[in-house]
Amino acid sequence: MEALSSFIIKASPERFDAIVVGSGITGGWAAKELTERGLKTLMVERGRPVEHGVGYVGENRDPWTMPNRGRVDARVEEEQYAIQRQCYAFDEHTQQFFNNDRDMPYSTPDGRPFSWIRGNQLGGKSLMWARQSYRWSDLDLGANLKDGHGTDWPIRYADLAPWYSHVERFAGISGSKEGLAVLPDGEFLPPFEFNAVELALKQKFDAKYAPARMIIGRTANLNTAAQHHLAAGRGQCQARSQCHRGCSFGAYFSTQSSTLPAALKTGRLKIATDSIVHSVLYDPKTNRATGVRVIDAETMATRDYHARVVILCASTLGSTAVLLNSTSEAFPTGLANSSGVLGHYLTDHLWAAGADGRVDGFEDHYYQGRRPTAPYIPRFRNVTDQHPDFVRGYALAGGAAREGWQSAAAKPGFGEDYKAMIRKPGPWRFGLGGQGEMLPHFDNMVSLHPTKKDKWGMPLLHVNVTHGENDRRMRKDMADTAANILEDLGVKDVRTKMATLEEYPPGLAIHEMGTARMGRDPKTSILNGWNQAHDVPNLFVTDGASMASGAWQNPSLTFMALTARACAYAVEQMKAGAI
Ligand SMILES: Cc1cc2nc3c(=O)[nH]c(=O)nc-3n(C[C@H](O)[C@H](O)[C@H](O)COP(=O)(O)OP(=O)(O)OC[C@H]3O[C@@H](n4cnc5c(N)ncnc54)[C@H](O)[C@@H]3O)c2cc1C
Repeated sequence: MEALSSFIIKASPERFDAIVVGSGITGGWAAKELTERGLKTLMVERGRPVEHGVGYVGENRDPWTMPNRGRVDARVEEEQYAIQRQCYAFDEHTQQFFNNDRDMPYSTPDGRPFSWIRGNQLGGKSLMWARQSYRWSDLDLGANLKDGHGTDWPIRYADLAPWYSHVERFAGISGSKEGLAVLPDGEFLPPFEFNAVELALKQKFDAKYAPARMIIGRTANLNTAAQHHLAAGRGQCQARSQCHRGCSFGAYFSTQSSTLPAALKTGRLKIATDSIVHSVLYDPKTNRATGVRVIDAETMATRDYHARVVILCASTLGSTAVLLNSTSEAFPTGLANSSGVLGHYLTDHLWAAGADGRVDGFEDHYYQGRRPTAPYIPRFRNVTDQHPDFVRGYALAGGAAREGWQSAAAKPGFGEDYKAMIRKPGPWRFGLGGQGEMLPHFDNMVSLHPTKKDKWGMPLLHVNVTHGENDRRMRKDMADTAANILEDLGVKDVRTKMATLEEYPPGLAIHEMGTARMGRDPKTSILNGWNQAHDVPNLFVTDGASMASGAWQNPSLTFMALTARACAYAVEQMKAGAI
């Protein structure tokens, strides 16, 4: 394969078949599907190029080889990464993949907390994501219709199932088949293992809480690489727990390891990096998107790219910001916004509520290597019964580990005995934390700030989001239930943990969804069931902006399935001359 640089372009007079905005998880999939289906495609990315392998500068580096021993310089952190540093994956090894907050500010009303975690480079957040990958079910896609919160999804599980299989086979998802209706099985590679304590607690949990079950988290890591993964240059997971730094084995799914090489192989992809999409170009005579206007991130020059179809994959808030900034006489409040709901119904997952405690015994056990996933208890709340305090549900995830030298080192002591003491693994601990569904609400919204602009002259995004009563009640139940489960399983000294909204603001679950939702009715939604704008037929939005509600599972596998499905549909429509 030629070097990445040979596919990168600046200005181009060419009219492409398709423009994909963004190169993260969804942009990578869009580029792969469109090019493999014959379309000359331009991927437009605001960030810099990152080459697979050589671009992962933090990989394989021990903290003592790093200039600041693995921690980002406190002043740099304070001045440039005040938001990004809240993400658990942010450190000196991964800093290069996180957005610089000083250069890319956003606003909130009266300082209302919202943490927008971004990866603005080729590959987007596909380079730092935690790879948990779950199918949604009809429980999730039918929820809005059932309880009336949010608009009815125009699709059901049967529409997505073949596309889940399509993306799982290619991405490589390791997991166990469980036959659970709330969490449909997929095309799995062999699962990762429980450790001894987790296995013992799983057996107790499954016996006591059936039909609920503790499973091992399904993850986009190649536990065992299949032939087609090896043939594509990807290798088996080495369980190094360094995924967030980039993996030159290609053992986890990212744009760089997976979709980008597939798209480049077709010879039909060009990439414009350092190109900030300012707006989608629109021709009112034909009612079609005609391309995108970009600002060069380095020179500030403006240029246009043209294509027959435009696919927005700039992440939930990135895509909505572009639409809001694409105004015209026909669409004064943002492109494809005749319904007026553009920017509304923003959700993120409810998080940071759970419990942990000590597990006695098992001192003769340890674990070998590391593991890119953890135990997971799929949703059991409000599946067959109805909790009196809240609708929807949550998963619990966690795991068991032995206290390590860091906790031992905090104890007093010195000399030989002290050194011997911190070398011994401490007691086992086991914890569970929830991830719950936040209800879609009209008032949770983003808009463009009327006056403030960033250094490229782009209006700041103004984010106004908070938890409602249902969300608060669910979080309380997540923590109480996690504690009850631990007590039931014989865990000792159980502590309930629940962060405040200030400690764990919306956004920090990094699962933003909604703001250009799909729906059956053009009067109340932006997109139809194919992620196609109701108002502008050759405009598609296939990332999390399109979600009509947020479910309780990690969403990126669903974004992948929706993107692949939408792109196949767009190509069919183009071939049929419909768009
Ligand atoms: C630490 C971490 C852990 C996570 N763990 C999980 C997990 O376990 N499971 C899960 O499902 N999800 C997880 N996520 C979330 C997951 O990363 C996102 O859901 C996913 O990356 C979204 O894909 P995307 O293509 O929409 O956006 P991104 O991957 O963010 O890509 C968007 C791209 O668009 C570009 N862009 C934005 N605006 C413009 C513009 N105006 N012009 C040009 N380009 C633009 C950006 O630079 C970026 O490259 C995690 C995220 C993080 C950071």
